[in-house]
Amino acid sequence: MKALVLEEYNKLVYKEVPDPEILDNEVLVKVMACGICGSDVHGFDGSTGRRIPPLIMGHEASGVIANTGKDVKKWKPGDRVTFDSTVYPLDDWFTLRGSYNLSDNREVLGVSPGTYRRNGAFAEYVAIPQHILYKIPDNVTFEQAAMVEAVAVALHAINIGRVRTGDNCAVIGTGMIGIFLVKLLKISGCNVFAVDINPSNLENAKLAGAEYIFNPDEKNLKEKIAGLTSGRGVDVSFEAVGKSETVNTALELVMKGGKTVLVGNISPVVELPLQKLVTGELKILGSCAIRGEYDTVLVLMSSGRINVDDQVSAVAPLSEGALWFNKLYRKEGNLKKVILVP
Ligand SMILES: [Zn+2]
Repeated sequence: MKALVLEEYNKLVYKEVPDPEILDNEVLVKVMACGICGSDVHGFDGSTGRRIPPLIMGHEASGVIANTGKDVKKWKPGDRVTFDSTVYPLDDWFTLRGSYNLSDNREVLGVSPGTYRRNGAFAEYVAIPQHILYKIPDNVTFEQAAMVEAVAVALHAINIGRVRTGDNCAVIGTGMIGIFLVKLLKISGCNVFAVDINPSNLENAKLAGAEYIFNPDEKNLKEKIAGLTSGRGVDVSFEAVGKSETVNTALELVMKGGKTVLVGNISPVVELPLQKLVTGELKILGSCAIRGEYDTVLVLMSSGRINVDDQVSAVAPLSEGALWFNKLYRKEGNLKKVILVP
């Protein structure tokens, strides 16, 4: 088959590779669409240590089942599917407890952090365990289905934050995940305050439904938001960047007794305002990947309640993948999601 292979850091080559072999509990998926994730772009130069070459990246994908292993009963060739980005063991203690996203020895598709190497979906075919598959509704396209993963990450954060209808919520960082946080918070009936340093990200947040947009550097940001929330601050803030400054902005804007959900994951360590946390009884909640939110996201897409098309900047052939990775890496032209297709 043909695949886009990370042969060495910063070097992607579209070339012939052996077809993947499937285990008895796996299906072979003919890939119809695969989105380029920010984590692929960050990983591609070696800086995260999670894309050790040689590797076929790609974990935001959809396709058609081409073949099934002998233990697969529920799925058949021709089924349109998408799949979780996490391959988790079924007999793990955390999985059995309902938290498969925290399971030990879980692997992410298209990732090789040194302890494992699992080829992903920037290829003609990918091998997928049957327990992470989801059926794509007929009216959802393959390109839309390749966006489910990003929306599901945002929905998981909202579920972790247990937002209630009418809550005031702040979203710090309105890149791809932040935009889906805004959209889902609007569906949940919340008031949304979006904060980002990039004016075009803020414009996107406004289009996605945010009532208020702010640059974090503007004077008296905390007071302004307090003024719009009965002097208290927001009920829940979401941090979708992962750095000290933005985590601190998220904590700054939340009311006493409120919650901050951390989704961004760039800096290994950040500084926290201890006294504010203690005296304000703030709750800091980590949100990791996805825990079954795929079904809900597919329903939201199929029923037209969430639009993902406005977040796709380009749909391009896999053979041109290297070119698009380079554009994203050099941050050319404010690209949002780029989806590679056969
Ligand atoms: Zn991703």
